[in-house]
Amino acid sequence: MTDNTSFALRVLNDRCTGCGLCADTCAYHAIRFTDYPEIDPYACRLCGSCVQACPAEALQMTEPENSRSVTSSGQPSKGGIWVLAEVENNELASVTKELLGKAVELSTKLHQDVEAVLVGREVVSLAPCLIAYGAKRVHVVENELFASFIEENYARAVVELVGKHNPEILLVGATLRGRGLSARIASLLQTGLTADCTELDIDSETGLLHQIRPAFGGNLMATIVTPDHRPQMASVRPGIMKAIIPDASAEGEIIRHDFSAFEGDNRIRLISEITEAISEESLSNSKIIIGVGRGVKNKETVAQIHRWAERLGAVVAGSRAAVEAGLIDARMQVGQTGHTIAPDLYIAIGISGQIQHTAAITGAKKS
Ligand SMILES: Cc1cc2nc3c(=O)[nH]c(=O)nc-3n(C[C@H](O)[C@H](O)[C@H](O)COP(=O)(O)OP(=O)(O)OC[C@H]3O[C@@H](n4cnc5c(N)ncnc54)[C@H](O)[C@@H]3O)c2cc1C
Ligand code: SF4
Ligand code: SF4
Repeated sequence: MTDNTSFALRVLNDRCTGCGLCADTCAYHAIRFTDYPEIDPYACRLCGSCVQACPAEALQMTEPENSRSVTSSGQPSKGGIWVLAEVENNELASVTKELLGKAVELSTKLHQDVEAVLVGREVVSLAPCLIAYGAKRVHVVENELFASFIEENYARAVVELVGKHNPEILLVGATLRGRGLSARIASLLQTGLTADCTELDIDSETGLLHQIRPAFGGNLMATIVTPDHRPQMASVRPGIMKAIIPDASAEGEIIRHDFSAFEGDNRIRLISEITEAISEESLSNSKIIIGVGRGVKNKETVAQIHRWAERLGAVVAGSRAAVEAGLIDARMQVGQTGHTIAPDLYIAIGISGQIQHTAAITGAKKS
């Protein structure tokens, strides 16, 4: 629960009559009563319903402390460029290495260090790998609670670290996990987030992060900035950025943060985990990808394409129309609302080449 001073929603105790209307109104059960209402910042969605419901004007929305503006001189602070590491099967996800590669490039323009955040149960052994891929500092948060991926707990750990160190930029992989997690972190920090960026750059005059992504169905590229809040947050899909060649002799600092007293979110309990054979990661690693479109028309032909792909060492993916037609698993969709890919060779069969599809294959060496 908050101390009612640092979160964006505050209770003015001297005005509160204890009527309880706010708690009754909150659809997220984020208000608990002791003497006065207490707001759980991790449950609260800042929807504002309670503020409107309060007859005594005892609830106030304010700018949260961890929503940090640029310094008054307009210059960026020295908080660093952070990459949130993602771990898959006890290894660093490829998107983390790619984000570090981009962060290294940005750091030469912004003159700030690249740092990584590593949250998990037993993950510290991966810290040297993050250093080899460009991190000068790795913040490690280990706790039993992170054995299973409960988004709320991971977000809470990252938000605490960000609050302590005030990074200038926070980059997250737009993966299945990263998408939800980045949105939750941005919401808790009350900062902006540009999802699915295809390019990132630093404005040479203002030092602001240019978060570039397709807009209006890919018909134009939008450059988005976060001038007033920190960190500037962006997510990038796997396969878009290039990792640097790792340097095993690179030196960096590994900082272990004590989260032993960390109180987990016990509203969510992982009962079991089922790993399916289908691997989205294979789309980011595969050198040859065959895209199936609506023109393929039937499952027999798709099965034939799968046999052909096996001989070629290729992975079969598809367009949204093929997914909707039940020809391809939704997790293998390529395009604006699916995966972005960068194989050596992309073979499209029965695909018309709409911008929402082709925008995601521009990284292919040959298509
Ligand atoms: C907001 C938004 C997001 C979207 N996101 C995505 C996305 O992530 N991914 C995506 O793919 N789409 C996406 N779409 C949909 C996209 O606009 C297209 O509708 C889709 O890509 C079309 O898929 P398709 O090429 O398989 O089908 P179609 O456009 O129907 O094309 C089928 C093709 O097969 C050819 N064909 C037919 N018969 C044969 C044959 N016998 N032999 C060979 N070729 C044949 C046809 O000539 C045609 O070129 C999105 C759309 C919107 C509005
Ligand atoms: S702002 Fe919305 S979510 Fe937060 S405590 Fe009030 S009613 Fe609940
Ligand atoms: S609705 Fe307002 S007055 Fe009533 S308990 Fe909540 S904060 Fe206090």
